[in-house]
Amino acid sequence: MTLRDRIPHVHLHGDHHSHDSDKTTAESSESGQSKSGKRNFLRRIVSGSKSSDSETEEEKGRTKTKSHAEPEIVIEMSPAADFHVHLRDGEMMETVTPTIENGGVNLVYVMPNLVPPVTDPETAIAYMSKLQALSPRTTFLPTLYLHPSITPDTIAHAAKLGIVGVKSYPRGLTTNSDSGVLSYEQFYPVFQAMSDHDIVLNIHGECPSTPTEDAVGMEDRDVTILNAEAKFLPTLLSIHEAFPNLRIVLEHCTTAAAVDAVRQCGANVAGTITAHHLFLTIDNWADDPFCFCKPVAKLPADRAALLAAASSGDPKFFLGTDSAPHPKIAKQGRSGNNKTVAGVFTQPYAVQLVAGAFDKVGKADKETLENFCCKFGRDFYKVREKGIEVEGGDTRRIVLMKGMGEKVVKEIGSGDGAVVPFRAGEDTWSLEWKE
Ligand SMILES: [Zn+2]
Repeated sequence: MTLRDRIPHVHLHGDHHSHDSDKTTAESSESGQSKSGKRNFLRRIVSGSKSSDSETEEEKGRTKTKSHAEPEIVIEMSPAADFHVHLRDGEMMETVTPTIENGGVNLVYVMPNLVPPVTDPETAIAYMSKLQALSPRTTFLPTLYLHPSITPDTIAHAAKLGIVGVKSYPRGLTTNSDSGVLSYEQFYPVFQAMSDHDIVLNIHGECPSTPTEDAVGMEDRDVTILNAEAKFLPTLLSIHEAFPNLRIVLEHCTTAAAVDAVRQCGANVAGTITAHHLFLTIDNWADDPFCFCKPVAKLPADRAALLAAASSGDPKFFLGTDSAPHPKIAKQGRSGNNKTVAGVFTQPYAVQLVAGAFDKVGKADKETLENFCCKFGRDFYKVREKGIEVEGGDTRRIVLMKGMGEKVVKEIGSGDGAVVPFRAGEDTWSLEWKE
């Protein structure tokens, strides 16, 4: 059975012209492979050929893909681990879960923010088995949603069942200006139990925004999406100080200040960095809902700090894509309350995006990519030590290639469930699996 056979649910919709060029590229590389050695490659299954009018217009200006593309750079390395993914439930789960492998990833740390949130260990385990059926060779790591119903006893039970971490989201304290200060103290007994049972605390590190109408004349308390992360950092430091043995991950760092805060802490505190924050600044999301996520991308200097941290070889920083799929119509504000929803979908291009970003600073080499995408996260989460992965368990390799003429597909899935991936239609590195 080839990998391609294992992912029958993937429907990557591009326009029909790019299908043709994709096909040409795939065929030429396949025939090249059969000459130069046998590799089993993951091939995307491309279905659907309808192109919208706007795509047809856009197509006219597109340069044709080279028919015999030779990669400019080839990097073969271990499969990646993605320590922050949203795989949703229902139809969306069925659409996005099979794309994990397309992004070069064989281990994912799954966020618990379903509706209702995953707050008990049994539900988390049952969720993992649904995901497992959709991507049989992926390792899924379960988490719980930090909630007042979680007690130290819940944590003891969760540890027995193999729950790896607990994710805290900013609480919904947005109705008055006192909400600028987040108190985590009510959870300290739970944090103590997590520290005792060696369960990781994952923090969405933002303070809730101060409501605009209340903020006039109270500038000292102003919290907006631009400073929400920076305002949160003292809370990170205080939790770490109170629980120095508790492993904490500051999720999706977006600022130079966050990078500094993680570095200031001891070895039990790490930070994940997404692929899209290595590309985006404020200007990108200000007029494009498909670049809008929380925390929002900040200034060019922040992006540079993230890129430097991710490619620095510092084991405190590793990949957590925060890939967060939403239906295209919800991103466009055409469902519900006419507002866009936060989240950027990067799953099928996780490692390709990181390679592209590192390449811009001359860091797209095997060691740097492997450290950030494969090694540091696994080490922090003690994946080997805890027997989550075993030596020789998955011996596959991934092969990254630059310059194959591949473009990010326009959509994945179909109908109202269609999702638009980050950088749709733009150039991307290519990725294939090798058995
Ligand atoms: Zn997230």
